[in-house]
Amino acid sequence: MPKKTIRDIDLNAKKVIMRADFNVPLDENQNITDDTRIEAALPSIKYILEKGASLILMSHLGRPKGEVKSKLSLAPIAERLSEKLGIEVIMAPDCVGEQVESLAAKLSPGQVLLLENLRFHSEETKNDPDFSDQLAKLAEVYVNDAFGTAHRAHASTAGITKKMDVCVSGFLLEKEIKFLGDAVTNPEKPLVAILGGAKVSSKIGVIKNLLNKADSIIIGGGMSYTFFKAQGREIGKSLFTEADLPVAEGILKEASEQNVELVLPIDTVITDKDVGDMFDDPSIADSAETKIIEGDIPEDWEGVDIGPKTIEKIKGILTDARTVVWNGPMGVFEFEKFAAGTNAVAEYLAQINAMTIIGGGDSVAAVNKCGLADKMTHVSTGGGASLEFLEGKVLPGVDALDD
Ligand code: AMP
Repeated sequence: MPKKTIRDIDLNAKKVIMRADFNVPLDENQNITDDTRIEAALPSIKYILEKGASLILMSHLGRPKGEVKSKLSLAPIAERLSEKLGIEVIMAPDCVGEQVESLAAKLSPGQVLLLENLRFHSEETKNDPDFSDQLAKLAEVYVNDAFGTAHRAHASTAGITKKMDVCVSGFLLEKEIKFLGDAVTNPEKPLVAILGGAKVSSKIGVIKNLLNKADSIIIGGGMSYTFFKAQGREIGKSLFTEADLPVAEGILKEASEQNVELVLPIDTVITDKDVGDMFDDPSIADSAETKIIEGDIPEDWEGVDIGPKTIEKIKGILTDARTVVWNGPMGVFEFEKFAAGTNAVAEYLAQINAMTIIGGGDSVAAVNKCGLADKMTHVSTGGGASLEFLEGKVLPGVDALDD
């Protein structure tokens, strides 16, 4: 059901509280190293202010686990927001309490107050009703623009909505719901899903949900070896999770019953060194020997990327696609030596005439690394949230908003 947005309500002279996702990466001196998430919240913030409202912003940052940790203060975000908006962003000493209430009460239209890290209070993630009350009484209108936490029923994403009369989505959340929602419920066909990454278990729900929706499902990355094993092939020392084997077998069976094209790599780049060790010592990757093989992976060798024949096959499938959803790299893309498959997919997606949706997590990092994010139709801001959405789950933070 479509949700109301800030476009659908009267904001003039209203006091608005907005849940944003300012969970940005910081270095050891609390410098923001990537402000994409702050940038992504600006359209909603500017719109709300232009319409004559005053704005209270709230977010979590990192994992303080219910304790005040000065290194996880949102103060650097207030500063960066001030620079971007060209107005002072008042930094609150906390997110609830008398002092915060007084600061909120004093706000005039056009002014912005940023609350301190929500997760300094354990009540936030516990979705505590009293804590929700305290947040709710700061404003008259609730806006959620934090897709990254929309799959969590927390006080600032779910509890608060029970205490406020007007609860709507911001532009970022609206965009996420539209693109990810359309991709799974109303895609222009053919729909092709590309799934990669390390573990079958984290993507099972997505594969199952897409089995009766997608025309082709391409599986690459570390999780393809569990499928190889399910086909009775040898996989050497490649990534494998025994517990996922029956799941992979079930998916292979279901795909053939449902007539969905399930594409596994034809050829694989393998290496003679341990990938885990490479993360500790990157020089191991430089000296590692690599080979491209088809069929069984020899003992003592490990699969690290899809091979050139697989890349060509994927391109062939993508050429006719009208909608593509991609989640998870095709190989250990953190090392340039094993990033060819992932890069090739990113580059090809950037040039085809289809709706291209990058579903969060490491595939977003890969697309950014190639400098191709702006060539995609939609790059999701939420890892876990986008996976749950693609699984067809109802996200509590979205469900709680006004229809
Ligand atoms: P995920 O979070 O499940 O999307 O997994 C992302 C991780 O999968 C990245 O860190 C990749 O390095 C890793 N990955 C992709 N392909 C492989 C592979 N063939 N072997 C080991 N790890 C892989």
